Amino acid sequence: MLPARQSAPYATPSEAPKRVTILGATGSVGQATFRVLAAHPGHFACEAITAQENVDRLIDLARQYRPKLAVIGNTAHYAVLREGLAGTGIEAAAGAEAICEAAANPTDIVMAAIVGLAGLRAVMCAVEAGHTIALANKETLVGAGDLMMQACKTHGATLIPVDSEHSAIFQVLEPHNREQVEKITLTASGGPFLNLPAEMLANVTPKQAVAHPNWSMGAKISVDSATMMNKGLELIEAHHLFALLPDKLDVVVHPESIIHSLVHYADGSVLAQLGMPDMATPVACALAWPRRIALEIPRLDLAAIGALHFSAPDEQRFPCLRLARDALQQGGSMPLVLNAANEVAVARFLAGEIGFTAIAETVESAMSRHKSCKIAGLEAVFALDSEIRQTS
Ligand code: NAD
Ligand code: MG
Repeated sequence: MLPARQSAPYATPSEAPKRVTILGATGSVGQATFRVLAAHPGHFACEAITAQENVDRLIDLARQYRPKLAVIGNTAHYAVLREGLAGTGIEAAAGAEAICEAAANPTDIVMAAIVGLAGLRAVMCAVEAGHTIALANKETLVGAGDLMMQACKTHGATLIPVDSEHSAIFQVLEPHNREQVEKITLTASGGPFLNLPAEMLANVTPKQAVAHPNWSMGAKISVDSATMMNKGLELIEAHHLFALLPDKLDVVVHPESIIHSLVHYADGSVLAQLGMPDMATPVACALAWPRRIALEIPRLDLAAIGALHFSAPDEQRFPCLRLARDALQQGGSMPLVLNAANEVAVARFLAGEIGFTAIAETVESAMSRHKSCKIAGLEAVFALDSEIRQTS
């Protein structure tokens, strides 16, 4: 459920700071979130932070931003975390359950920035607590979008998109003119291999794949951008967030990543949101919603950029986009299968075990062996996810 547009400003400067819980605090989106918090110490108070492995970074962040609670997912690091926070008054905890508790504890907004379906349980805990959730963790909506959106309604939770394209749409989608929306277009940078000949794709290395031309991101989403699976996941994400049928969702390649997405209206107007490619902007937009807060980042200078380019995506060279579109059309369990096989394949590619083009082959093979069905509940999601991971 998206927030109502006419909702009151969250705080005037005289009110208490907005409490922010950050799931996946040590990652790339986590880093962008701390940049926003650091720019507005009076507006935001860090409530809780979580991470999976990087305990040293978690300790540093906790010491700097003073949350009430810091949680490390891998329990093997618990002693280090406790020792690192000794004398600070910050509570230390460990394990997946503790991350879920951190997500459900009282707060004003939860930044969901864990990578992969691994974030689903925590996001659902935040949803069930009725929280406002700034959602970066797109794989949760891809794998369990119907359940999540239904749970948002049931528990009165609110999702505010953080993915830059969805933040753009959120900013220009007029709630009172929903009937007049003809389609939305997600822009795609095309990734580092946009112009690489098809025959060279099989030999690209993980290092080349994670070197994104415009955005600095975690390894998994960087590979997803290189295969264009990221745009496929985003089509499915948009379908759930904005309740739009697949035939109203379009993709255009725009290598400069300046226009972040567009909404086409029945009168011929096309509304877009523009900005420099920096995740601090959509993070600030989500955290401060419905207000805007200042950020000291480079400003958009269209005259200096000179030209913006657009082209249709090439689904022959980037079959992941076609596979995601197919999964979206089939609905039911198929997007979960697409996501699980993709997560497995991307991890193997990053580990040097398979080639780049084998990512799409792994996903296609998993999808061809699966017959889409309705997923009954969260435990069924985890069961199918783990089955696909074992068989992919
Ligand atoms: P990242 O790899 O940089 O960080 C991931 C975070 O999740 C880390 O803090 C890590 O400790 C935590 N984590 C990993 N596995 C976990 C597990 N099993 N349990 C609990 N925590 C775990 O990832 P990122 O690039 O920041 O991306 C985070 C999410 O945001 C992804 O879903 C991605 O698609 C989405 N997103 C990222 C960007 C970006 O610019 N990085 C932009 C849009 C959307
Ligand atoms: Mg995006």
